[in-house]
Amino acid sequence: MPEILRVAVPVPLPQLFDYRAPRGVRVAPGCRVLVPFGPGRQVAVVVGSAAHSEVDPAKLKSVSAVLDTTPLLGEELLATLQWAARYYQHPLGAVLETALPVGLRQAKPLPFEGYRALALSADGRATSADTLRRGTRIRTLFERLAAGPLTYAALDVALPGWRDSAAALRQRGLIETVAVAASAEVAPCTAAPALNPAQAEAVSRIAAQLQRFQPWLLQGVTGSGKTEVYLGLIEHVVAAGRQALVLVPEIGLTPQTLRRFRDRFGNGVHALHSGLAEGERSRAWLAAARGEAQVILGTRSAVFAPLPRLGLIAVDEEHDASYKQQDGFRYHARDLAVVRARALGIPVVLGSATPSLESLANAASGRYEKLLLPLRAGSAQPPQLRVVDARRTRLSHGLGPELLTALRATLARGEQALIFRNRRGYAPVLLCHDCGWHADCERCAKPMTLHRQRGRLVCHHCEAERRVPVHCEECNSTNLMPQGQGTERLEEALGELFPDTALVRIDRETTRRRGALEALLDRLGPNQPGIYIGTQMLAKGHDLPNLTLVAILGVDEGLHSIDFRASERLGQLIVQVAGRAGRAHKPGTVLLQTHHPDHPLLARLLRGGYAALAEELLAERRAAELPPYAHLALLRAEAKEMAAVEEFLHACAAAAGAVEGVDLSGPIPAPMPLRAGLARAQLLLSALDRTRLQAALPGWLESWRQLPSARRVRWSLDVDPIDL
Ligand code: ADP
Ligand code: ZN
Ligand code: ZN
Repeated sequence: MPEILRVAVPVPLPQLFDYRAPRGVRVAPGCRVLVPFGPGRQVAVVVGSAAHSEVDPAKLKSVSAVLDTTPLLGEELLATLQWAARYYQHPLGAVLETALPVGLRQAKPLPFEGYRALALSADGRATSADTLRRGTRIRTLFERLAAGPLTYAALDVALPGWRDSAAALRQRGLIETVAVAASAEVAPCTAAPALNPAQAEAVSRIAAQLQRFQPWLLQGVTGSGKTEVYLGLIEHVVAAGRQALVLVPEIGLTPQTLRRFRDRFGNGVHALHSGLAEGERSRAWLAAARGEAQVILGTRSAVFAPLPRLGLIAVDEEHDASYKQQDGFRYHARDLAVVRARALGIPVVLGSATPSLESLANAASGRYEKLLLPLRAGSAQPPQLRVVDARRTRLSHGLGPELLTALRATLARGEQALIFRNRRGYAPVLLCHDCGWHADCERCAKPMTLHRQRGRLVCHHCEAERRVPVHCEECNSTNLMPQGQGTERLEEALGELFPDTALVRIDRETTRRRGALEALLDRLGPNQPGIYIGTQMLAKGHDLPNLTLVAILGVDEGLHSIDFRASERLGQLIVQVAGRAGRAHKPGTVLLQTHHPDHPLLARLLRGGYAALAEELLAERRAAELPPYAHLALLRAEAKEMAAVEEFLHACAAAAGAVEGVDLSGPIPAPMPLRAGLARAQLLLSALDRTRLQAALPGWLESWRQLPSARRVRWSLDVDPIDL
């Protein structure tokens, strides 16, 4: 029997640690143990065992306690996490820490089996609903609870925005929070719609091959019914007694999405995302691990859900940037979904109206199978996209005459419009009209955004805030003018232009509170005219059947970005926002207002759609030897002084030396050379052959860790970076 356990400890050190196993107990890989570490103790995960250790027997410590009798992490998941630690060059202990919910990183027994629920209190049961005003949300909540307790999860689905009403009832002592056992309170209630031929073909082709690894790229125009394809496939998977994992972007996991899945699969659907309270997260995780959950619907980190009978993975909006973790363990959830599917021999479906160039290249090379959904589901028509030339027109608050005419006509028909502007706040710049000075963030050297309602200048890069100055800090003039439009200013302008129209602004400010996004999206009834104003939060998620006009503002800034992915991102954003128009039976129009109507990107998009744009961008990437035709890793460093950053990066480049097939460029300043008061620069590593880069990285990292200058900067390595 092996005497030594090799464990991963959640610390930023790359190695595993050896401990003496407790006598007479078999501890399998994937179990958690409590171990003495430094001055304290740590919860560690057993990765393997050995008969002997290299550690001096006198120094070898013993495991303090075994926390799990059966592995918390199954064989496949543990193997995937080890693979990811190697691939992303991140310490395994820190990787495991990302994968495990906080509640399970502690040396506590597993959480209780109950779910938090709301119920009427004794006072509440003695109170008649008639004491509450008829037709209010508060009364609706009270009446629902009078019929029996409801879990928080069920309330999120049934009554989005219920927390405010609950606070009011709680204050009056009418309700309380209780724990209930998991119950079948939400039974499946809708049958599948008849699939259209393209959907049916997609389902049947994938369903015919559920027993083997195959990535499928499901490219379907917005509103083509991709979700219906996932649901149809999950039916096959669940019927076969297996589990499904569905990943959605951060912003995509709305109560509406959850409701759609619950309507179909009832309580077997568990949500897993960072917005959950710790206990809820641990419970969903354990429900997955024990095989109780049939479907896990989650955001990025749900790719690490333990699913012993996993039979299918779907990644919705696979191009979305939120799948890439941008700090700590910088993994890409879509890519890891493919890695897990391969390990398990199951299909993985990557869905998008605007696939990433990476996935399109994989489809072109035959590694992925492509399935097309060319038409909108049901009776909806594709929206008409038109470029509106803003040159030589009089813009009123950034809105040109053609746009205003279209807006008036839409409202007159009783329909809704969406004004898309990807800038929150009132104005991106506060400018002195007399001398040209503008209010910049001292810590980032970039203009601060004016937030007029809050009466603050806010830096959108570091969140620094200050009072709005009354005088120019250069010439003392009081002639300070807001420049450009943010969503807050557009809302004000539209309020003046259309005083009798309902306006709904959706951005990070207006949706800060939980449930606020839902409440706002529900504010306009399906038959009421009105205007939505918002940032990319409005680009996905919701079906607004009466929305027929989309106006896109401010794309010009995106046309001049230096990031090599900027064109891809802008194309995706335009197509996604445009896709909000005309999703039901009324046709939609999309107006894109620009000062560069002849820009090649817009021309290409208009004539050939996203497919044509993507094809051209891929050709450019190939010629420039950029991803997906090359593989990158980015070494970032920051410190108070640029000299320290440069010294470190030069030392890194020297320590790396020349490796055939791997190019090293830099140090070069970061896209933001100053952020939050820190000077930043980077070293870019690239290779046409991924394996060469992968082979070089571990040795380099080891030598960089030894550099004396490494202790004077904050640095990190990002494998497959998406922001350069
Ligand atoms: P996507 O995920 O591609 O944006 P959805 O799956 O959300 O598309 O479908 C768009 C709309 O079309 C939804 O309202 C959905 O209920 C409806 N829909 C999807 N498939 C069908 C179908 N086969 N018949 C009728 N309506 C459908
Ligand atoms: Zn001035
Ligand atoms: Zn700043």
